Amino acid sequence: MALHIYNSYSRTKELFEPVTPGHVGLYVCGPTVSGESHLGHARPYISFDIVYRYLLHKGYKVRYVRNITDAGHFEEEGREAEDKVSTKAQLERLEPMELVQKYTNLFHWAMQQFNCLEPSIEPTATGHIVEQIGMIETLIEKGYAYAVNGSVYFNVKKYAAGYDYGKLSGRVLDELLESANRDQVSRTLEGQDEKRDPADFALWKAAPPEHIMRWKSPWGEGFPGWHIECSAMATKYLGKQFDIHGGGMDLLFPHHESEIAQSTICNNCAPVKYWMHNNMITINGRKMGKSYNNVIKLTELFSGEHALLSQPFHPMTVRFFILQSHYRSPLDFSNDALLSSEKAFRRLWEAHQILQKMEEPDQDHADNPTLDQQINDWIRDLETFMDDDFSTAKVIANLFEMAPVINSMKDGHIAKTAIRKDTLRSMKATFSLFLETIFGLQGIEAGPTGVLSPVMELLLEIRKEAKSKKDFATSDRIRNRLNDIGIVIKDEKDGNSSWQLS
Ligand code: ZN
Repeated sequence: MALHIYNSYSRTKELFEPVTPGHVGLYVCGPTVSGESHLGHARPYISFDIVYRYLLHKGYKVRYVRNITDAGHFEEEGREAEDKVSTKAQLERLEPMELVQKYTNLFHWAMQQFNCLEPSIEPTATGHIVEQIGMIETLIEKGYAYAVNGSVYFNVKKYAAGYDYGKLSGRVLDELLESANRDQVSRTLEGQDEKRDPADFALWKAAPPEHIMRWKSPWGEGFPGWHIECSAMATKYLGKQFDIHGGGMDLLFPHHESEIAQSTICNNCAPVKYWMHNNMITINGRKMGKSYNNVIKLTELFSGEHALLSQPFHPMTVRFFILQSHYRSPLDFSNDALLSSEKAFRRLWEAHQILQKMEEPDQDHADNPTLDQQINDWIRDLETFMDDDFSTAKVIANLFEMAPVINSMKDGHIAKTAIRKDTLRSMKATFSLFLETIFGLQGIEAGPTGVLSPVMELLLEIRKEAKSKKDFATSDRIRNRLNDIGIVIKDEKDGNSSWQLS
């Protein structure tokens, strides 16, 4: 089976055929660095990290572009005039670029904790003002944008007359107009009085005197709209038409719908072949939001310092939790759900560790051909699941089928000769490939900064030496003290010991 991707634009799974054979252009909307990243940010960046890793595994040469939104932009309809970056900067008494740097560093730190691969290019909105102005000029020249009092708006009605406006998000223009008309309160705020039509959106906004982030433009000093930044940077680095554009479902409208409109007019073609959207994370069944007081920052998640959390959670637990669902399914977060993910992940990872250390039998037939065949079937299906729109949850389910077999082989309940040498080798390679290379998982005890594993190896070595010299006082002391801090030592029959967190 070849790779099939669910295209949000056509609402069907389509065979993946890149614009240029062998190459993939992937664009994912990056974070707005006006605040700390929270749990909601974890899902898109982990989901698209898997997409990126899997495309690399498939042998594609991928250019992965993920932007940083560091210019004040229009967060949502109704709050268009608010520049999030400069408002926050005044509150925290920092220079806007100082604030942007602080939150960019924090975002990068969180991505490292999650073991997300770095994008090939990470362009910033403030570094591409020239390209954005260029695109806006083209839109004006082509008659799809107009300037009023130093601001520039996109003419949605004109676009909708010739193109499929609303197809991606499934919104109908009339509905949009109605809701815009109802929203009288914010009319002045979002420049409704300047617009020829309420559905039009801003490409450039004139900066009021108190606005800190501002750039010179043909229309006076101002700042770019949010949608134009992604159109400009995606076109610059991936071309007029590229393969995959990703983001959360919350970006379908107005952000991605507007990107399509702008780029289609400027580039004379549809900008994206496959639109991919991850579903959202809810917290205990509720939408995450400030009004529900349930926003969990990533720093809080990793430290456990949040009223909804009973303990710190390792970034790998969060990553595993996200992979246990399909990226297009809703995902409900709760402390209990994360606790069970932690347990499950430890179990699977332990099986992986046992498997990698397992000695290969020196024979090439299977005493239990049925089991041998079953294992090969489980392995064969993994790539099929991933080719079917990145079904990570099904992959995990199959790996879990193999875990008891691994444990039984270790305990001797299943003889190692039950399966062929090649099957065992293939199991080893499969676990490494899927868990580490494609899913980007790491052992909880050996995270990016973890040193527990080698320290424990050393302690167990010292304990073994003590026991061999019949110094049981020392060996017991090591075992008891570790037990006190939550590490359980298990002595095996062969004289070796293993350890696990209790
Ligand atoms: Zn974007």
